[in-house]
Amino acid sequence: MANKTLNGKTALVTGSTSGIGLGIARALAADGANVLLNGFGDAGEIERLRADLAAEFGVQVAYHNADMTKPDDIEAMIRYAEDKFGGVDVLVNNAGIQHVANVEDFPVAKWDAIIAINLSSAFHTSRLVLPRMREKNWGRIINLASTHGLVASAGKSAYVAAKHGLIGLTKANALETATTGVTVNAICPGFVLTPLVQKQVDDRATRDGISNEQAKKALLADKQPSGEFVTPEELGALAVFLCSDAARQVRGVAWNMDGGWVAQ
Ligand code: NAD
Repeated sequence: MANKTLNGKTALVTGSTSGIGLGIARALAADGANVLLNGFGDAGEIERLRADLAAEFGVQVAYHNADMTKPDDIEAMIRYAEDKFGGVDVLVNNAGIQHVANVEDFPVAKWDAIIAINLSSAFHTSRLVLPRMREKNWGRIINLASTHGLVASAGKSAYVAAKHGLIGLTKANALETATTGVTVNAICPGFVLTPLVQKQVDDRATRDGISNEQAKKALLADKQPSGEFVTPEELGALAVFLCSDAARQVRGVAWNMDGGWVAQ
């Protein structure tokens, strides 16, 4: 335990009851961090996740059910982190949703929800944790953007707008903290096979009358030259690196891990 980089630090990972967030929470816990989980799901299942993570890595793990569309909930979650752990040292803004439709058909409520969860929630968490990080002169903020923060795809206007915005927020906050021990960076995954992407696979299989496996291959063939999904474990390892001392001068980057997607 003694050599783990994040021993004694606390990580808040939003949207960590599933997919990439859970992968990153696991990697940070494996590196010694106490973890505050957040996200939706079945209460019993979340409690099992929480207890398993604590037992597997010998760290403290708590859960808060803040809805990331609600600034008051977010404030309550940060207060909870302060009371329980003395603050947040590593903030991973990961909660996110997707909806696919052309802009003229895009439901207004979906647009508002995507901007709130995928972009504004990161503003709220960041503004609330930064004062304590500055006091300690150490902190890591990692924003889960996407290749869609760097390039667009048709049908994903809200998501693309939110993710481009999140990279803008990342750069501005990185400059504001540039002379401190706090770094702010973004990670831009390509396709990762989580529930968020499985829905797109299912929709494609239905639309084109093909099998699930064929739909996965088709989705990857469109965008991701490696032909393979990125994994939550690989993204967790990148997050751990961004938290390390070696990454002290990595500031304001939008680091893609995308099987070659944006190299095209
Ligand atoms: P996921 O659906 O598996 O997980 C999303 C998480 O966010 C869940 O824990 C869910 O409960 C939580 N969540 C959703 N709405 C919430 C709300 N209002 N309040 C609190 N929590 C909420 O999705 P994922 O694929 O793991 O995506 C995680 C992040 O990674 C998202 O920001 C997504 O945009 C981004 N991303 C995903 C991919 C991919 O291919 N899967 C690629 C690039 C970026």
